[in-house]
Amino acid sequence: MAATSLPAMPLAAIHASHSGCWLQGTAGTRPVGKGEAIMAAADTPLLLLNAPLVASRLGYPDLSGLDLLELYAFIHPARFMVPTPKGLAQALGLAEPARDDAVPALLQAAAEALLATCEDPAWPEREGAWSALQSLVRLRWPWAGLLIPRIAQPQKAERWLFSRLPEWEDTPERPQPAQIVLDDEAITARLAELTGAAAELRPAQQAYARAAGAMFGPRGQQRQPHIVLAQAGTGTGKTFGYLAPASLWAERSGGTVWVSTYTKALQRQLRRESRAAFPPERAVQAGRTGPPVVVRKGRENYLCLLNLEDALQGGFTGRPAIMAQLVARWAAYSQDGDMIGGDLPGWLGTLFRKRGITALTDQRGECVYAGCPHFRKCFIERAARASAGAELVIANHALVMINAARAREPAQRPTRIIFDEGHHVFEAADSTFAAALTGAETVELRRWVIGPEGTSRGRRRGLAARLADVASYDADGARAIADAREAASALPGDGWLARIVEGGPFGPIEDLLAETRALVLARDESGGQEAGYGLETEAAQLGGAFIEVAGRAQEALEALRQPLLRLALRLEALVEDGPDWLDGPARARIEGARGAIGWRTDLIAGWIGLLARLGGPGDPEFVDWLALERSEGREWDIGLHRRYLDPMKPFAEAVLAGAHGVMMTSATLTDGAETASGDWMSAVARSGAPHLDVRPQVFAAPSPFDYAKNAEVLIVTDVPKGDIPALANAYGRLIEASGGGALGLFTAIRRLRAVYGRIADRLARGGLPLYAQHVDPIDTGTLVDIFRDDPRASLLGTDALRDGVDVPGHSLRLVVMEQVPWPKPSILHRARRLANRGGGQAHDDRIIRARLAQAFGRLIRTGQDHGHFVVLSSAFPSRLLTAFPPGTPVRRVTLDAALQSVAGSVSEGPSAAAPQSPMDETRA
Ligand code: SF4
Repeated sequence: MAATSLPAMPLAAIHASHSGCWLQGTAGTRPVGKGEAIMAAADTPLLLLNAPLVASRLGYPDLSGLDLLELYAFIHPARFMVPTPKGLAQALGLAEPARDDAVPALLQAAAEALLATCEDPAWPEREGAWSALQSLVRLRWPWAGLLIPRIAQPQKAERWLFSRLPEWEDTPERPQPAQIVLDDEAITARLAELTGAAAELRPAQQAYARAAGAMFGPRGQQRQPHIVLAQAGTGTGKTFGYLAPASLWAERSGGTVWVSTYTKALQRQLRRESRAAFPPERAVQAGRTGPPVVVRKGRENYLCLLNLEDALQGGFTGRPAIMAQLVARWAAYSQDGDMIGGDLPGWLGTLFRKRGITALTDQRGECVYAGCPHFRKCFIERAARASAGAELVIANHALVMINAARAREPAQRPTRIIFDEGHHVFEAADSTFAAALTGAETVELRRWVIGPEGTSRGRRRGLAARLADVASYDADGARAIADAREAASALPGDGWLARIVEGGPFGPIEDLLAETRALVLARDESGGQEAGYGLETEAAQLGGAFIEVAGRAQEALEALRQPLLRLALRLEALVEDGPDWLDGPARARIEGARGAIGWRTDLIAGWIGLLARLGGPGDPEFVDWLALERSEGREWDIGLHRRYLDPMKPFAEAVLAGAHGVMMTSATLTDGAETASGDWMSAVARSGAPHLDVRPQVFAAPSPFDYAKNAEVLIVTDVPKGDIPALANAYGRLIEASGGGALGLFTAIRRLRAVYGRIADRLARGGLPLYAQHVDPIDTGTLVDIFRDDPRASLLGTDALRDGVDVPGHSLRLVVMEQVPWPKPSILHRARRLANRGGGQAHDDRIIRARLAQAFGRLIRTGQDHGHFVVLSSAFPSRLLTAFPPGTPVRRVTLDAALQSVAGSVSEGPSAAAPQSPMDETRA
């Protein structure tokens, strides 16, 4: 405990929820009104938890105080904590508050406990704290005054972050993997090792593992990978099912297997579960260096140490500078420097309200590689190198596609790939192989070439500064850099959107964007004009004036592409010539620059291709349109877009053609209707295999769960569509009936907010906290953590929650969908609908069934889970019912009957199935 001579702890603490505010002062804790709470907070810094959330509950955005989350991030960097009173109590071993009015006392106790930690000689995260605190004092961090007397100056100077981090080491190139065949017996034996001898025998999992093993066979011909499509219902044990053959193959062949996921939740789960399949001891015995399992993400996820150093040395001021100090504390203890979904608390960034976290990553590819003083400690470089030597690389779909298409070294190119959450490969390919010539993209390109302009601060450098040594050595290279710089000045710069809106565009690209905006506003008939949504129109019947402007924009882009191509050639020649000054680090930097220039010239070529076709006949392979991006009426981007009608075509070339074995797996790989008929036509088409004339092997295992007993689908028929008060009433009463534990899914943010605004206070007064994406100032991952942690909490959200939530057990017992999740009738959707061989309705139905199946999949995660899936729809077509697993009871009911069912199941337990009625449509 704190010594008596230390500064006294502030007594006052405040807590605000939807059901009220409580202030703890000298006279104890008492409820206060919002006005009094705001006055008290303005008078003196109060103890509070999650200032932005308290501010939003009080309706007073400028609220500040002594935020315990900031203190926790300083004392225990890189440690997980759910940012709620209960989570704080659990993290510190304190008693959980039973009611809201007990929270201020908890905050007081937590502050004392955290401050006392600083005086404990066994404090594990002591190193670096004293030095960071000296900077935080200068930055007037509210906690600094209380910490200074409690953190003793170390006798020996502390190692500064950049000397504390380990250096990565170069590893020798690996030989190519041995060609081996896995036999079924060995796969089954490895699976038994992973699941444990005591684990129940699961024949479906064994069959699944053997099916997965087929992807590891030697390839017979070029461009003919083994492709396995494996659908496994929830509960089959997919992860160990594919890790068994994958680990066996990696061990025996010496190669690397990539597992690709779509959601961060699955990535985290894989990181945990893969430890058993890839034990470090086995890798050591096999003579491998480095960790056997590596998680790899896009570089924009990782902390860039150069950006952090810049932020610490004056690049950030005020609150962002405090955040940079807390990030530096975290970086010293982080497992891998992953800022998005790694061990940096997701809530840290939102405490500082600005986009500070992204400014610390390498968003724009401005890395100077070996020219960076921190290159040998760089988290991104470490992850890239480790993955080349790993047995298993866990990545996401987009990164796998990008690496397959343009990895710097062959060892980084994935050749054995398991796409888990395989039903998302199509949409990941759709965005990876898209072209978007927009204002925001062109501004980024200009910055990348020219560097900071005007009053911009920071270390970011343009191409000329990054390649200064090349320019001084090679006259042609210097000319190419200067030409690129000049051509880039024709691209949109800061303030481009305001210039366009005010009718004063500058340069050929801004002219094009201005014409695009005018045309979209003139032609859009989507009804989004009044609603404030984004607008779009197809790129057709464009008129001579538009084509002329597009032609000038095309010339401007070509004028930039040419010198970049020349520069890439000069760099290549330089690496081959190998002048004296080109030592290892300089070579690595130039190769890095070559890679970065390569993908920018490809990007520009894509834009030129898009513009070149505007005046001519449409290309049936592509869908082109013009768009004005807006949210709530505020414009934020303008541009021209191009998508492949079938993005699996470029996917097949970039990923499948070079691979030896690929598996796509998911619980919802095929459409429910297809599974019933044994027809995999659309799943095969969506795998990309037909583009290489490969016939995939298919496998299906139904879920072992007893859906008939544990789940019920209720289609509520008496909530009128478009009636927000009725919708809110239905949500509120359903959540009350289930006593929380509800996940509410919406297709429109506007309706989500309207419903939330109507019911949050009422539910909170009944002890049922409600959280919402797009409303609460909390990142999505943290919202799910909060929801998982509190069985009385409910969560409202949109698409990202439909299949990014893995909450087994009692915390999730009710899923409510506001309506049938129809696809948005965009131009792209219309084109794909028209192209669908089975007809437009079949196309839409497949999308809706997939969405329903994904949403339903959130409900039953284990054999013990039970609950209700409610769709508020007066006209739910029966043909969509195949979305639900066979045997699941489905009833069309009134809201009152649904409430009875939900409440009955809560009070009576899992098997309280409602009596069947003539309206029952049990899914067979
Ligand atoms: S090597 Fe690149 S990404 Fe890494 S710290 Fe340096 S500049 Fe940042």
